[in-house]
Amino acid sequence: MSSNLVIVYHRQPYEEVEVDGTIEYRENKSPNGIVPTLKSFFGRFEKGAWVAWKEAQDTSNPGFERRIEIEDAHGTYAVTRLPLTRAQVKSFYEVSSKEAFWPILHGFKERYNYDPVDWPTFREVNWAFAEAAASEAAEGAVVWVHDYNLWLVPGYLRQMRPDVKISFFHHTPFPSADMFNVLPWRKEILKSLLACDVVGFHIPRYVANFVSAARSMFDVDVTHRIKVDPEFAGPASALTEVSVPDMIEYDGHKVAVQASPVGVDAQYIEEVASREATETRAFDIRDDLGDVKLVLSVGRTDYTKGGIDQLMSFERLLTERPEMRGKVKLMHVSVPANKNMTVYQNIQQDLEQMAGRINGMYGTLDWQPITLISRAIPFERLVAFYRAADVAWITPLADGMNLVAKEFCAARTDGDGVLVLSEFAGAAVEMGSALLVNPFSHRSMDSAIQQALDMEEDERRGRMDILRRVVAKHDIRFWANHQMEALGSEAARQAAE
Ligand code: UDP
Repeated sequence: MSSNLVIVYHRQPYEEVEVDGTIEYRENKSPNGIVPTLKSFFGRFEKGAWVAWKEAQDTSNPGFERRIEIEDAHGTYAVTRLPLTRAQVKSFYEVSSKEAFWPILHGFKERYNYDPVDWPTFREVNWAFAEAAASEAAEGAVVWVHDYNLWLVPGYLRQMRPDVKISFFHHTPFPSADMFNVLPWRKEILKSLLACDVVGFHIPRYVANFVSAARSMFDVDVTHRIKVDPEFAGPASALTEVSVPDMIEYDGHKVAVQASPVGVDAQYIEEVASREATETRAFDIRDDLGDVKLVLSVGRTDYTKGGIDQLMSFERLLTERPEMRGKVKLMHVSVPANKNMTVYQNIQQDLEQMAGRINGMYGTLDWQPITLISRAIPFERLVAFYRAADVAWITPLADGMNLVAKEFCAARTDGDGVLVLSEFAGAAVEMGSALLVNPFSHRSMDSAIQQALDMEEDERRGRMDILRRVVAKHDIRFWANHQMEALGSEAARQAAE
């Protein structure tokens, strides 16, 4: 069981489908997302393994094979599925990760819920992931761990396997020490991350925040700093940094800290956008709209996404510019990701109430100002909406990256369209040619949407041209190679070739 690359990611790397009583493992329907890119690395290493979890009623007799071999276009690799009970999943994922960590990572202290956290279960689940990775890894293997719900894995794994190279990537923001230290488990988490060889983040600001949090608890030296590459420094806005540490040392152990923005598969999106079916769909959407401008907002139902603030800004637009009534439509897609959690149910209700009120106030028989969609739109259809929209209005209050903003630009093979983007989304540091907006300011929100709707074609195309180049260059493969390069090991060097 000796793999040279072990990926530790809570999701399984395929879709499990039952056909005539037998289980088939299929490629994920949509090649969009990071899973296919992670899998593509298996082809470059001698042997690969993946560790994920799968729910089981009885973990000692889960009713499924714990370890399977998959053979697909990416080669042959082993997948270990850790059987977790519903109670373990709820505790480790829905409570500890989503109710305690998520609000702190995004800067929402007031939503932080400490009471229901069962820390021993969080440790237990992380220990199980570390054990599985340790038993898969060959001597000196690369183990790539993903996201905050597996924060304790590096520390445990280092105890079990001092020889392996550990890289950890955060798919969320990383907050400042003042915010992070709200977590009572701060020391244990930071110590675990300091056992890595590489800790990766989307943008330089999160690197700087991590280093300051680590230094608030431990005697950590910054042994090297770099000037931030102008491509990741954008215009001076809320999340930009001028210089950041890229190497730190703790207890004689060096840790590389590196920002690599997760990107999208721009080639794939362009291919979907150019399909005849997509173009016909986009044409039909535009045809139905007539001379009404379409503003598109897409995100998960989450307080971090700022949906309510956005609807309020749209209402002010209709109040203050009566000539816009009947001339603009907001399509607000808010996808409920976790139906079991009351916090998300409440936001969904608030959105529905507010959209209903605005439609009631301004709608006519022929024109409804807001179309609220509370379910996921399949990706191919979403691309048609990206193509048909005049404006993508993406204004999260906090967001690690925001892939919708990048997908919108990748889909605009016609070179038109305006992106209004929150300066509190990680994507804003690369996408300075968007109309950057401060979602906490009414004035900024209101003037940006007005400017977007009024923008002349030359300016729209000029901005979109720059955005499309950034998105194509910093695509999903760029991200993975950039993180792998940071490991600097022989195996990683081969992988980056
Ligand atoms: N998405 C989708 N259908 C929808 C809404 C969203 O397929 O109706 C996808 C979207 O294409 C994107 C992802 O969900 O790839 C959302 O990623 P993002 O980084 O914007 O936000 P996150 O949910 O990760 O915070």
